[in-house]
Amino acid sequence: MKKVVVVGGGISGLSAGSLLREKGYDVTIFEASNRLGGKILTTELSGIAIDAGPDAFLVREPEMKELCVSLGLADDLVAPQPRTAKIWVDGAMHSLPKNQFLGIPLDFDELDDLGLLTARGIDRARRDLILDNNSPIGDETVGSLIRRRLGDEVMDKLVGPLLGGINAGDPDKISLNTAVPHLAKAAGGQASLVLSIQSYLRSLDRNPHDPVFLTCPDGLGRVVEALKERLEDNIVLNQQVQSLVPENGKWIVRGQDDVQADAVILSTPAYASASILNGHNPDVSKWLSKIDYASIAFTLLSFPTGSVQPFDGSGFLVAKSEGLLMTACTWSSSKWGHLENKEHTYLRVSTGRAGDDRAFSLSDDELVATLLKELAFTVGLTAEPSDCRIVRWPRSFPQYDLDHSHKVKHIQRLLQEEVPGVFVAGAAFNGLGLSACIRDGKSGAQAAINYLENNDTDDTNSGG
Ligand SMILES: Cc1cc2nc3c(=O)[nH]c(=O)nc-3n(C[C@H](O)[C@H](O)[C@H](O)COP(=O)(O)OP(=O)(O)OC[C@H]3O[C@@H](n4cnc5c(N)ncnc54)[C@H](O)[C@@H]3O)c2cc1C
Repeated sequence: MKKVVVVGGGISGLSAGSLLREKGYDVTIFEASNRLGGKILTTELSGIAIDAGPDAFLVREPEMKELCVSLGLADDLVAPQPRTAKIWVDGAMHSLPKNQFLGIPLDFDELDDLGLLTARGIDRARRDLILDNNSPIGDETVGSLIRRRLGDEVMDKLVGPLLGGINAGDPDKISLNTAVPHLAKAAGGQASLVLSIQSYLRSLDRNPHDPVFLTCPDGLGRVVEALKERLEDNIVLNQQVQSLVPENGKWIVRGQDDVQADAVILSTPAYASASILNGHNPDVSKWLSKIDYASIAFTLLSFPTGSVQPFDGSGFLVAKSEGLLMTACTWSSSKWGHLENKEHTYLRVSTGRAGDDRAFSLSDDELVATLLKELAFTVGLTAEPSDCRIVRWPRSFPQYDLDHSHKVKHIQRLLQEEVPGVFVAGAAFNGLGLSACIRDGKSGAQAAINYLENNDTDDTNSGG
């Protein structure tokens, strides 16, 4: 039986491992830390399970929901309450437009009543309806698209903060095509960006009552636990892979123990894969290192419910212009029905984005003290928290810049030509949402299967 080693026990590696096991390969997943899940981490706070990494998944992309179905978790999934997020900008809390797509307003009349954009900003946004199509050939940044069609205010007060919550990136640097492909697809149809998006949304024929996001009420860690049960025999924890060494057409995977493999899938962050491959192929390692990351930290807070005024919304985003440390605050008790009406009110405060690592130079006490000051200032919350957890995620959000697709293609080509039998997968390459990672993990596994089948000289030896 052919042996495949998957390095990394996040959702990408677990998905790759599941497919290989299903196809009958001898697969081992090496995970450096003492737990599975990578960025998926559910923790306990004042008696409830709360996510300190991803807390929901988009239903539009099917893979995560399909995984939950296959693990028998589908009946438990819940959608957020129908409450919208707000935005803190120009020193005040504003409602987001009801009719919007990734922060792009789809009904300009609605903007008049919100007090979010100036009259001049609204006039500039309206010009989208009459401006000629001046789209560049090829890729552009999200900022370039939004600024030239709708103006700076829509970019800085709406789209920027919303996208920042998804990829912690600088919208003036991230690629429209690779970082926000859904918007790239929606933007293409007509000269007007807003009319294009409206007709794209109509073409999807979505039931407006269907949920956009879903989650597990016990936290997304439940998905990892179920995968762990399925893959128990294939997992080795506390096994940090250091390097790969070729030997007689196979790979020696060097960690605490050396293991021989016919193929290897690196589902580790790009900088970790770069370090693993550096000794064998510095060139591919150099290209992997070119993928930049942003760091963020979550501070989870609980307060005695009686001490906190209810918040009318699922939480709020903070525009970069405000200079606050926090970039967003999820009012978890208001967003999720299963956390409502409890003894405690739960908040999840985000800090950090591309170019802003301030949260990483503060001690835990300093971080919490600053965030409490900012909560008092923005929402008048002055209560003492009952409990608090800080989870720092250094270099956690890969940044897909304008050169991203070129980097990914180049890495794939170098691997195929110079490091045969080694594959990369995960958030660094073709989308960082959970469904995209599952897709990429499986496609890495399929590439390994194709490689093994094409290089199989002994019929009795085939993997499946
Ligand atoms: C804070 C945060 C919030 C997010 N929120 C959402 C959300 O709400 N919805 C959504 O869809 N997506 C969200 N994302 C994105 C999504 O969670 C991640 O992109 C995805 O989980 C990454 O999975 P992965 O398997 O590719 O990588 P990871 O989860 O990073 O897994 C890689 C694994 O490799 C291990 N590893 C590293 N080096 C080695 C080595 N040398 N040897 C062995 N193992 C090694 C690591 O320990 C880790 O377990 C969020 C991400 C973050 C960071």
